[in-house]
Amino acid sequence: MDTLVKEFLAKVESRNQHEPEFMQAVQEVAEAIIPFIEQNPKYKKAKILERITEPERVLMFRVPWLDDQNEVQVNRGYRVQMNSAIGPYKGGLRFHPSVNLSILKFLAFEQVFKNSLTGLPMGGGKGGSDFDPKGKSDGEIMKFCQSFMTELYRHVGADIDVPAGDIGVGGREVGYLFGQYKRIKGEFTGVLTGKGATWGGSLIRPEATGYGVVYFAEDMLETRGERLTGKTVVISGSGNVAQYTAEMCLQAGAKVVTLSDSDGFIYDPQGIDAEKLAFVMDLKNEKRGRIKEYADKYGCEYFEGERPWGIPCDIAFPNATQNEVNEEDARTLVKNGCICVAEGANMPSTPEAIQVFKEAKILYAPGKASNAGGVAVSGLEMSQNSLRYSWSRDEVNNRLRDIMKEIHQICVEYGTEEDGYVNYEKGANLGGFVKVADAMLAQGVV
Ligand code: NDP
Repeated sequence: MDTLVKEFLAKVESRNQHEPEFMQAVQEVAEAIIPFIEQNPKYKKAKILERITEPERVLMFRVPWLDDQNEVQVNRGYRVQMNSAIGPYKGGLRFHPSVNLSILKFLAFEQVFKNSLTGLPMGGGKGGSDFDPKGKSDGEIMKFCQSFMTELYRHVGADIDVPAGDIGVGGREVGYLFGQYKRIKGEFTGVLTGKGATWGGSLIRPEATGYGVVYFAEDMLETRGERLTGKTVVISGSGNVAQYTAEMCLQAGAKVVTLSDSDGFIYDPQGIDAEKLAFVMDLKNEKRGRIKEYADKYGCEYFEGERPWGIPCDIAFPNATQNEVNEEDARTLVKNGCICVAEGANMPSTPEAIQVFKEAKILYAPGKASNAGGVAVSGLEMSQNSLRYSWSRDEVNNRLRDIMKEIHQICVEYGTEEDGYVNYEKGANLGGFVKVADAMLAQGVV
């Protein structure tokens, strides 16, 4: 690793100890950006990289609530307000037992670059709690969300910080959070995105991340004269992003053969068709069941405790969680003929896995570029809330398609290497950085 990068990372690590996910995200960006900064001394002089890696504000708070047995439960809530140079903080809330400061700081940091890439005026933030929604009753979820918002409301607002969903936070949770904010503040404003369509939400928001990642993959494939039609697709996860990735793949004529959850994955060599996907959506969104039930119902194979990367495919969408594709998985994917990896999740590939993809010169898109469709439509939801108006499905979907195309173009512009290979990772980092850095320069030392 370059000496300058090493020195910089040592400094960041000295004040962010025991935060491996955050350091992983910073390293990826630093490796791409430091050579660029060396060629553009204005950013170096203003210490943009030192400032951009330091959150503007980190909030941590107690979330006490009563469970169905009237026992007191205590969780920890967080909001990381990373950067507001180009707009109010924007980024999801994650409810999952693995949530800690390192994970939320990595997510907030990635969000800064992602939001910049969308071209919309949104800063970066992320938050959540170590609360585990699994196995909780609706009443418990509501009580937790109300307690969480009873503290968070002081720090968010339509022009300050606009949270949304992420792992464990879907339409139900956003509803409870919004209801409590409205009750405390006595105002109906666009403080959250991912709201229901009848109360300020945008059409296509639930679909946006999944559709967006498929649009991005289509644009990548096109650079090599390829198309999704007829391709075999492997997807991990079975939540929001995975479901709509599968839906759009089906629409594009591809064959989706896997889905997973944290217990294992299903392999359906016949392909998951529209009817089977409807079963998955009902299972996961309404019944809150396990993906194994798909295998039981449709008589296909289920691999307990495993991830789907050993299944031969043309295209892989890692859509569950961070660091779910390691070096060995990446080698297996490449060996089995995978030509394109587009990340729906945030940072699902380890640095070693990314290196394998880049060395094999296959198409590889980092989540901050390929999964930006979700936050892009959240940005469109904010615009509609400000206008007090709703756009049609087609209107939002067309805007989403254009935004993903534009992000792809930015990656090609900043990431094309001498031999013509598009390094989407480098392109996304540089393309996302420049706009935020220029805004920081313009706004002085703040
Ligand atoms: P959901 O909660 O809807 O689904 C998450 C899926 O991933 C579930 O199938 C879940 O399984 C699985 N999963 C979660 N944690 C793990 C784990 N540690 N190991 C294995 N599987 C796991 O979340 P989303 O679909 O919204 O989010 C998925 C990814 O996409 C996340 O990385 C998120 O940050 C990213 N993302 C989401 C956006 C959005 O708009 N929702 C926008 C951009 C990125 P189980 O049911 O067992 O928990």
